[in-house]
Amino acid sequence: MNLIFLGAPGAGKGTQAEVVCNELNIPAISTGNMLREAVKNGTPAGLAAKECMDKGDLVPDEIVIGILKDRIAQDDAKNGFILDGFPRTVSQAEALEKMGVQIDKVVEIHVADEKITSRMSGRRVCEGCGNSYHIEYKPTKVEGICDACGAKVVQRVDDKPETVLSRLATYHEKTAPLKDFYAAKGKLVTVEGQEEIADTSKLTLAAVKG
Ligand code: AMP
Repeated sequence: MNLIFLGAPGAGKGTQAEVVCNELNIPAISTGNMLREAVKNGTPAGLAAKECMDKGDLVPDEIVIGILKDRIAQDDAKNGFILDGFPRTVSQAEALEKMGVQIDKVVEIHVADEKITSRMSGRRVCEGCGNSYHIEYKPTKVEGICDACGAKVVQRVDDKPETVLSRLATYHEKTAPLKDFYAAKGKLVTVEGQEEIADTSKLTLAAVKG
């Protein structure tokens, strides 16, 4: 099953992708995580992406599409995958089609803008494996340390309040049009993001399986 998780930054795409990928035994592929890894490793793609990411702007299509194409060609993605954070523009969605990738379902996790900013201030990410946490909704077992790999858990530079507003504006301008794009193909299902992660997971799994 090839799935896309769509939604504003901080809506919970990554968290729900982690739940659903375990359930369906397919990888969750986050272009944001791959780009952060590239920045950390100082690769050419990472060097080119860093400035855009720090400002909350989108990274140019040619960089992101290249990274995504290589990733979905790997063996573990043969039986399906969840795309988290890709596509983010209509031209990226068209690039997926040109690659011959069939998408089964697009799940939009909807959270109102007013809630996004407060959620983002508590969000944390593991420097090592990229797992996502939240100081209130999904805390680590040991403060500041990733449950999965033991590396340090930090706030992303682009989760600071001033950058979040600009990322939200980018979402509405460039990514939200994808809702119409996929609705016209009969593929869009919208899930209302709940206060409790487990409640959103139930709705998300039902949307994926329904
Ligand atoms: P995310 O972890 O999905 O919030 O992504 C973090 C940042 O990585 C975004 O603010 C963008 O700068 C960049 N990024 C991730 N995915 C994409 C994409 N599909 N297209 C362009 N930029 C992206």
